[in-house]
Amino acid sequence: MSAVTYARHYCSRQHRTFKAAAACIFGKSPVTGEGQWAFVHEYLCFPEQDRRYSIELYSTEAEAQAEVDRHNGYGKCSGSCAGHRLVRIADLDRLIQVERNTALKEYRRG
Ligand SMILES: [Zn+2]
Ligand SMILES: [Zn+2]
Repeated sequence: MSAVTYARHYCSRQHRTFKAAAACIFGKSPVTGEGQWAFVHEYLCFPEQDRRYSIELYSTEAEAQAEVDRHNGYGKCSGSCAGHRLVRIADLDRLIQVERNTALKEYRRG
């Protein structure tokens, strides 16, 4: 599995940390750690089937991938689990500002 690079965010700020960028990219999702590589945990919230995320950041791809693999070892780790993904956050000076709905749609497609 290779990483999706994610560059689209919603605000006009210049984020100085990947943690701030990830929080912007994934809406109000909780973000822990710091680094360019993200283990993204997706959940479905019932009954709305709303997709939620929790993000753990790592400074290397290997660390983030290991976390994805560990969770994939369980299959779906809980009833609301919707998957585990490796995401690379684009360089902070390469982030692109877009409308909120566009960004989430592209993420889901990607
Ligand atoms: Zn932003
Ligand atoms: Zn899970």
